[in-house]
Amino acid sequence: MIEHYFTCPYCWEEQLKLLDISVTQQSFIEDCEVCCNPIEFDMIMSDNTVTSFSAQPIGQ
Ligand SMILES: [Zn+2]
Repeated sequence: MIEHYFTCPYCWEEQLKLLDISVTQQSFIEDCEVCCNPIEFDMIMSDNTVTSFSAQPIGQ
């Protein structure tokens, strides 16, 4: 697992997320721990680093 900081697209709070590096491409929806709005995460991993990360409001 690696740690990755992202900013919530709703409340703009910077938050820490633990990512499973063994899965190279991930897409999931999770509620913000601060404002509880659903965030759509899309990420691509390679060589134990995050090469692409996006946290978007759902439906956009
Ligand atoms: Zn939030």
